[in-house]
Amino acid sequence: MLQRDTNVGTGTLAGGLPFRELWEDWPLRLLVIEDDPDLNRQLTTALADAGYVVDRAFDGEEGHYLGESEPYDAVILDIGLPKMDGISVLEAWRRAGRAMPVLILTARDRWSDKVQGFDAGADDYVAKPFHLEEVLARIRALLRRSAGHAKSELNCGSVRLDTRTGRVSVDGNPVKLTSHEYRLLSYLMHHTGRVVSRSELVEHLYDQDFDRDSNTIEVFVGRVRKKLGVDVIQTVRGLGYLLTPPGNAS
Ligand code: CA
Repeated sequence: MLQRDTNVGTGTLAGGLPFRELWEDWPLRLLVIEDDPDLNRQLTTALADAGYVVDRAFDGEEGHYLGESEPYDAVILDIGLPKMDGISVLEAWRRAGRAMPVLILTARDRWSDKVQGFDAGADDYVAKPFHLEEVLARIRALLRRSAGHAKSELNCGSVRLDTRTGRVSVDGNPVKLTSHEYRLLSYLMHHTGRVVSRSELVEHLYDQDFDRDSNTIEVFVGRVRKKLGVDVIQTVRGLGYLLTPPGNAS
């Protein structure tokens, strides 16, 4: 059974990400998965009263389906659920690349639930029985943190890299990179303005089997430069590479 509280509207955010500037205009959308009907109602009512759009599910299967197909900004997930337990639901989402913040509900004496929950990809937990105020406060904190991480776009001059979609563009024109080239550019863009040595790149970007003695990094840098067509990656002789917007070169 799925019910949606319609009293607070049904707006959703593009991509399900809570961009801070949109908070006033779009309500954030949450999912509550809890099989105890009273608890489910208490949670969804409190969250709806707080201004969130809330979907609810009463078993693991339905909850899993919703979490995989709808763009939720955060999920409250009970561990002990019929049909599919909460840990399995969470693991399946994370495997499928669903990255929304998840708050798990655990029984107070089941410390192993918490460990399992965090290992499965939970962001926070609340032990039952809980105060609704604590759940609301923890959800607010999760959404704040996730909004900070939602700045998924990195820019350097006309080069733009979206870490969420894996897309790279120059002046708005898409650039196709191989996964190695993408990782190299992404690492440099995360460290704009600082010299990154070749050995650091090798350590962070490639697995054990990578041929560390070769000049492969240089080859990759050459290819990325060529594909971007703009001069943002400088070679700093004897030290490594430095990403700077064109015109800022020293
Ligand atoms: Ca339960």
